[in-house]
Amino acid sequence: MAPNTIMWFRRDLRLADNHAWAVAVTAAREAGAAVIPLFVLDDELWGRSGVNRRWFLAGCLAELHADLGGGLVVRHGDPARVIPEVAAQHDVGTVFRAQDVGVYGRRRDDAVAKALAADGRRIEEADSPWAVPAGTLRTGTGRAFKVYSAYLRAWRQQSLPATARRPSAVPILERVRSDALSKAPAVTADLPDPGETAAHRRLDAFLRSGVDEYASTRNDPGADATSRLSPYLKWGCLHPRQILRRLDGRNTSHDTFIKELAWRDFYADVLDAWPESAWSSWNPDMASMEVDTGRRTDERFAAWCDGRTGFPIVDAGMRQLVAEGWMHNRLRMIAASFLVKDLHVDWVRGARFFLEHLVDGDLSSNNHGWQWVAGTGTDAAPYFRIFNPTLQSAKFDPDGTYIRRWVPELADVPAEHVHDPSAASGGTPAGYPPPIVDHAAERTEALRRYDATRT
Ligand SMILES: Cc1cc2nc3c(=O)[nH]c(=O)nc-3n(C[C@H](O)[C@H](O)[C@H](O)COP(=O)(O)OP(=O)(O)OC[C@H]3O[C@@H](n4cnc5c(N)ncnc54)[C@H](O)[C@@H]3O)c2cc1C
Repeated sequence: MAPNTIMWFRRDLRLADNHAWAVAVTAAREAGAAVIPLFVLDDELWGRSGVNRRWFLAGCLAELHADLGGGLVVRHGDPARVIPEVAAQHDVGTVFRAQDVGVYGRRRDDAVAKALAADGRRIEEADSPWAVPAGTLRTGTGRAFKVYSAYLRAWRQQSLPATARRPSAVPILERVRSDALSKAPAVTADLPDPGETAAHRRLDAFLRSGVDEYASTRNDPGADATSRLSPYLKWGCLHPRQILRRLDGRNTSHDTFIKELAWRDFYADVLDAWPESAWSSWNPDMASMEVDTGRRTDERFAAWCDGRTGFPIVDAGMRQLVAEGWMHNRLRMIAASFLVKDLHVDWVRGARFFLEHLVDGDLSSNNHGWQWVAGTGTDAAPYFRIFNPTLQSAKFDPDGTYIRRWVPELADVPAEHVHDPSAASGGTPAGYPPPIVDHAAERTEALRRYDATRT
């Protein structure tokens, strides 16, 4: 067996508590050989990621490269060609990688495994981006979970693996050709610092002042009190087990946060079990739901994308998305619900727009988050439970702090009208549009469509 190893980094861009990295280094060391830390810039994925995620990824790779003493090998191309090629050139016996549940990612991993096997080499899955690897938990009848609460009960029974110590004095194979690290593209959004160091800084700050109040503040977008760890989790600069180890499940607020991390695992598990649910209705009964298309719908969709629907809370959320590549969870739900149930647009269009902008854009969390809102997914909010954007706004942003931050046209509107300025005696202030639809009428229309789907 050829002695060198490859660590194929993908969504695990960290050196601490990374089992695949630790195993790749140990295997090389025990064979008296060396390891190649490799990242393949795959056009298929690079091209599809929005500019914000590309910028963040480029920053993570630059830091990883520096942390490896300049030893990260980057290659551009199709992994099914590139990895066997590097392995053959450098006497590699085993490639180590973590789990992926994306539709393309799984196909790619199979193709790489086949190409390596044809050459007598192996690939080993040695970690996963989730606290509990997707596909681990099963119901009593051996099926994947369809309901989050039942999944959560099983999830809580799992114990975390021991921490993988960050290897020191790593024998990195020298003189392996590397393509240039991709230059970070220009971005207009105000994005968080990329990389493992920034991830820990963010986590430390949240644990110091944030997590103890999380249960009471997490739904207040004006307070901006959630962890904002999602981009780091998305790229594996931080692993959820590194967070879980520092939380106390007996503390109610910590436990609320733990349950959010469990949602992330749940949706990965759902995607793993039903790969086709990435882009089509998980619930086949809802697949025939009538959606609007055509010019008027395109105009409404554009107004939603631009944050110009005349519904201040929706507009504030959409403007935050474009400005920061991130949106508060409450707003993701409100904005998504508005698109699907007030504008009757297919959730797939909204999910694509989110993925184009979100720096944490993640196929399982995003598309199943959308399906939850649209009532087409597992555990979905019942379709007939339709968010009223004005009431949501009054409940979660009572004094309009969040709205005023993102919709400066409404800066001087008093709190009693900021959720619906069109109802004020003077009407909407200059420069801000009137509501593009009548929520009550669209609610009735959404319910009519829902009834038609069920009969
Ligand atoms: C329509 C819609 C689209 C979404 N798209 C994404 C996405 O592309 N990527 C993404 O990471 N999350 C997505 N979410 C989930 C959630 O909104 C974000 O994870 C959260 O807002 C990130 O901010 P935070 O790190 O401050 O979260 P916190 O409240 O601090 O939560 C901590 C972590 O728990 C996980 N988490 C929290 N809520 C959820 C949830 N509902 N589903 C899955 N994981 C969750 C995230 O990893 C998050 O970083 C989406 C939700 C909806 C309703």
